[in-house]
Amino acid sequence: MPRFQFTIHATDGKARRGTIAMQRGEIRTPAFMPVGTAATVKAVKPQDVRASGADILLGNTYHLMLRPTAERVARLGGLHKFMGWDRPILTDSGGYQVMSLSELTKRSEEGVAFASHLDGSRHMMSPERSMEIQRLLGSDIVMAFDELVPTTSTRDVQAKAMERSMRWAKRSRAGFDSGEEHAARAALFGIQQGALDEGLRKASADALKDIGFDGYAVGGLAVGEGQEAMFGVLDYAPGQLDEAKPRYLMGVGKPDDIVGAVERGIDMFDCVLPTRSGRTGQAFTRTGPINIRNAKFAEDQGPLDPTCPCPVCGTWSRAYLHHLVRAGEILGAMLMTEHNLWFYQTLMADLRAAIEEQRLTAFANDFRAKYQAKQG
Ligand SMILES: [Zn+2]
Repeated sequence: MPRFQFTIHATDGKARRGTIAMQRGEIRTPAFMPVGTAATVKAVKPQDVRASGADILLGNTYHLMLRPTAERVARLGGLHKFMGWDRPILTDSGGYQVMSLSELTKRSEEGVAFASHLDGSRHMMSPERSMEIQRLLGSDIVMAFDELVPTTSTRDVQAKAMERSMRWAKRSRAGFDSGEEHAARAALFGIQQGALDEGLRKASADALKDIGFDGYAVGGLAVGEGQEAMFGVLDYAPGQLDEAKPRYLMGVGKPDDIVGAVERGIDMFDCVLPTRSGRTGQAFTRTGPINIRNAKFAEDQGPLDPTCPCPVCGTWSRAYLHHLVRAGEILGAMLMTEHNLWFYQTLMADLRAAIEEQRLTAFANDFRAKYQAKQG
């Protein structure tokens, strides 16, 4: 297998059906990456994550650096061995969590000093330190470290954050390349910033292209701006990036967000929604999300989703899952999460088939009509 090779097999409008070949395996795109925050996709064993159709999962640098620490994971043979997942792992840079979860943050050109949300211990995160942590974890796809500001900030604040992010992207590139052994088998993605401003997005895309990355993320979206504003950016942002490289929309999203973003040329996604929702009793179905705690499911003998091929839908009823979740049984969270992961991966497989067969618009319109049908 090559270090990193992206092949586009088919296109339909702006959408692309591709494959990323890496040493730990192939990633079919458009791809959805389940989030394995603390070296676990919560409530699901790695073999069951794989059985749902996931080719790659995401690990969180911020959480792992604090506990059990990247150095300990490295001593134990790396993240893949530690958690029992032998396929590709993408790690985020830690920037988002450092700037949203931690306390007493202090930003400078060097990086971000912060206090752990776990125990208040002081840490410094910088492009160089983020690259080091992701290398210690043994990440396959490493994300550049960037600076985030709210989309509601002034254009001047947005511009300064984007420009600093591009300087940090350059330092990330150098830091990644300095780990020669790791750089020979892993990939590095740059992150486009610029909030909701087309000019800033273009400047960011050009700066990243000059540095050169294996793939490009559209960053700074899905942070509360709403689907309409996000799609507004996605109408032009993917087209500003190198079309020969994969495009990753970080932190997205709801099923209809994903369908709309695939139509706009996005190849990769990650989101906590299927796993987090599974633990709170929300199941995704092709006719919209349902809350299994709802009393109307107490004696419903049907599966969560009659169209779903997953092992949960093949075995257990809505009534049983309603009971488990209401009773706070651990198995309830496990089964709901497993179904939700299958829902997301089945949707991605359907999107890939629709692109291959040049019927994406019809598929997307049909999906939206059914998904938005009201149920409880
Ligand atoms: Zn299912």
